[in-house]
Amino acid sequence: MTRPIRVDIDLAAIRHNYLIAKRKAPASRAWAVVKADAYGHGVRRVAQALADVADGFALLNIEDAVALRQDGVSAPILLLEGPFDAAEVAAMAEYRLSGALHSREQLAWLAKAPAPLEVWPKVNSGMNRLGFAPGALAGVLADLAALPAVRVAGVMTHFATADEARGVAEQWARFEPLVRGLGLPVSSANTAALWDFPDTHRDWVRPGIGLYGCSPFADRLGAGLGLRAAMRLSADVIAVQSLAPGDAVGYGRLFVAERPMRIGIVACGYADGYPRVAGNGTPVAVDGAPSGLVGRVSMDMLAVDLSHLPDAGVGSTVELWGPAVPIETVAAAAGTIGYELMCAVAPRVPRVYH
Ligand code: PLP
Repeated sequence: MTRPIRVDIDLAAIRHNYLIAKRKAPASRAWAVVKADAYGHGVRRVAQALADVADGFALLNIEDAVALRQDGVSAPILLLEGPFDAAEVAAMAEYRLSGALHSREQLAWLAKAPAPLEVWPKVNSGMNRLGFAPGALAGVLADLAALPAVRVAGVMTHFATADEARGVAEQWARFEPLVRGLGLPVSSANTAALWDFPDTHRDWVRPGIGLYGCSPFADRLGAGLGLRAAMRLSADVIAVQSLAPGDAVGYGRLFVAERPMRIGIVACGYADGYPRVAGNGTPVAVDGAPSGLVGRVSMDMLAVDLSHLPDAGVGSTVELWGPAVPIETVAAAAGTIGYELMCAVAPRVPRVYH
């Protein structure tokens, strides 16, 4: 008998979400952002599922990009952080991978490009993570013009805020005048900007989190954006305990029963990627019925309240997040974001694709 935990990946939901994203910016092309193993969903499976609809894919690792090419993906692929060293420039040319260009070091590597390739110079419009200062863009474009093997495919930037209109507006006000009149394609919008800042759409948008059905906004769930949850983490109840008033549950005795209770012990813990900091009451669904966590999450187990569910017991399936339990609510209970939970599901949890 295998340990009863699994993560179900709904590829049709990811297709649906990509098409919803496209509808938000019908005049733009959209890179499906599949970095970090497609936010934990499996980059090769996700790319296959989107192959006939996606305008392109954006990710980090050259290994992933090459795997997609070997799988037959022919759409444009953008390396979101460009080459990490000179050796990657040759692979970019060989596999037709374009790169975000954010540093002078990368420019020097590109000078040795063995065959034509495309880059997207990236402007630091205020996030102060990657990118050239706005005042440096003209010089970078001039230097690129001197490299015969390198074509500038467009200019990009990235926003630091999701639902804070002022932050996006400030960054856009720094970026837009730079690209106005250049005659080059422009890309800036992540999922949040795709939904809330249509001015930023332009030529290519870059939705990531929305593809997986999760909202980037603190005050809206993915379902409210018309998205479908693509990941369902679930595990079974493997034991039941009956508590008398005063009995405690789990490490640290974080929960003490005030009345007689039945609790289910579930085969999922922080070693599976469930956040240890999620506290009492964090939502779950037991055979579809709402319930909540009881006590501290252990390495391999957690406890849920079954007191109001007389039919639940060993073998009941507990959804930790998914269509019935929005990942955003679990993330909020753990003081984090859905992105982190999706990416943190442990390799030991079997993936089941639909
Ligand atoms: N573009 C870049 C450069 C990114 O780093 C990311 C992800 O952080 C995205 C687009 C996609 O963002 P989101 O997942 O918020 O849509």
